[in-house]
Amino acid sequence: MSFVSLGLIDPLVRTLAELGYETPTPVQAQAVPAVLAGRDVMAAAQTGTGKTAAFALPILQKLTMEGTKVASNSVRALVLVPTRELAEQVHQSFLAYGASLPLRTHVAYGGVSINPQMMKLRKGLDLLVATPGRLLDLHRQNAVKFDQVRTLVLDEADRMLDLGFARELDAVFAALPARRQTLLFSATFSDEIRAMAGKLLRDPLSIEVSPRNTTVKAIAQWIVPVDKKRKPELFMHLLKKKRWGQVLVFVKTRKGVDQLVDTLQAHGVAADSIHGDKPQPARLRALERFKAGEARILVATDVAARGLDIDDLPLVVNFDLPIVAEDYVHRTGRTGRAGASGEAVSLVCADEVVQLAAIEVLTKQTLQRVDEPGFEPDHRVPVTNTRGEVVKKPKKPKKPKGDARVTEIDVRFARR
Ligand code: AMP
Repeated sequence: MSFVSLGLIDPLVRTLAELGYETPTPVQAQAVPAVLAGRDVMAAAQTGTGKTAAFALPILQKLTMEGTKVASNSVRALVLVPTRELAEQVHQSFLAYGASLPLRTHVAYGGVSINPQMMKLRKGLDLLVATPGRLLDLHRQNAVKFDQVRTLVLDEADRMLDLGFARELDAVFAALPARRQTLLFSATFSDEIRAMAGKLLRDPLSIEVSPRNTTVKAIAQWIVPVDKKRKPELFMHLLKKKRWGQVLVFVKTRKGVDQLVDTLQAHGVAADSIHGDKPQPARLRALERFKAGEARILVATDVAARGLDIDDLPLVVNFDLPIVAEDYVHRTGRTGRAGASGEAVSLVCADEVVQLAAIEVLTKQTLQRVDEPGFEPDHRVPVTNTRGEVVKKPKKPKKPKGDARVTEIDVRFARR
C-alpha cells in the first residue's frame, strides 16, 4: 500500500518521500481515507503507531483543498493535546508534513506569555494546536473564535482526562460549532472516554491498532477440538444445544463465510455476512441488521470486521482460528466489554495447532479444551503450552489384535 493509494495529493506524497516514509502504518491506512471522506474517527492508537500523521496528513490536505479564507482571530482546524511537549511535537509534525503547503499554523499552551499567541491569532490560522486550558484563556479574551472550526482533533484524550481537563474540554466543546468533523485518539478506552466519544462523535469509524496483548479475564474462553470437515455440523449442533442467541462468527476466508451462511440459511437460521467482497455500505447494512436483531448470526472475516463498531456481544465464535494471533485478541475483545460477561469459543482442528500455540503464548494462557460428545476428532489436536511448544503426543497404540492382548493390558492395569 502506498500513500498515493490513500488519496493523498502530490505535494504531501512528495514530502513524505523526502522524510523517508515509504508505507502508511496501519492507523494511517485506515484513518487517512476516512478523514478525507469527512468521517468522524475514534482510534485506539498509542504513540509510536504513526497516529499523528494519521490525522495530520488528511487535515492538511482538506485545509489546502477547501482553501477557505480564514477570518481574523479565527481557526479552521483545532488539535487539542494534554501537554505542552505534545503540543510542540504535534505542531512540528504539521510543519514537517505541510512544508510545501501554503497554510498558517501555530501552537498555544500555558506556562508561557499569552501575547505572542494572541498576535499570531490576529490574522487567523488554518490550524491551531493547543492545550485545553490555554485555549480557553484565549477564547475568553476573544483572541480566538470558533465559528470557522470544521475539524476538531482530540489527541491522547485519555491523558487529557487524567490530567483533569474534563471541565475545560466541556467548555470548549460547548463553544464549538455543532457541524464539524471530530477525530478522537486515545491509547486506552475507559468508560469516561467512551462517554465522551458517544457525545462528540457521529457514526465514527472505530480503529484499533494496538491490541492489548492479554484478553480480558471476564471472558470465558474454551476450544472444542474437532475435525475440519465437521466444523459446520458442530457449529449447528452447539447453536441448538447451547441455545446460543446472537453470535458473531469469525471465518478465515470469504468462501468459508459464504458456505457457513448458506448452511445456516438452509437450516432456517437468519444469518448475514461481512467480507472483503462486499462494498462498505453492504457491510454496514449487514451490521445494522445484526445489531437490530434481524440477523441472529453475523459471519465475518477479520479484515472485514476490522474497524466496525461491533462489541458488547455475549458470544464470539472462532469457526477458524486467525492466522495472526493478535486477531484472536481483537475478536475476543468484542465480547464481554464494560464488565459484562462474555464467552469466546473456538472450533479447532489439527491443522490449526500452530495458530493455537501462538494464541496461547500471546495471551499467556492455555485454552481449556472441551470435547463435544459425538464430535471427538479422528485427527487429534496436539497438546500445546504457553511456551509455544507443541507437545507431540505419542502415536496412539495400534488397536490390539485378538483377545490375548486385551487381556494383557487389562491385567497390567489390574496389577497397579
Ligand atoms: P507517532 O505515533 O505519531 O508519535 O509517530 C511515531 C514516529 O513514527 C514518528 O517519529 C513519525 O515520524 C514516524 N512515522 C509516522 N508514520 C510513519 C511512516 N508511515 N513511515 C515511517 N515513519 C513514520
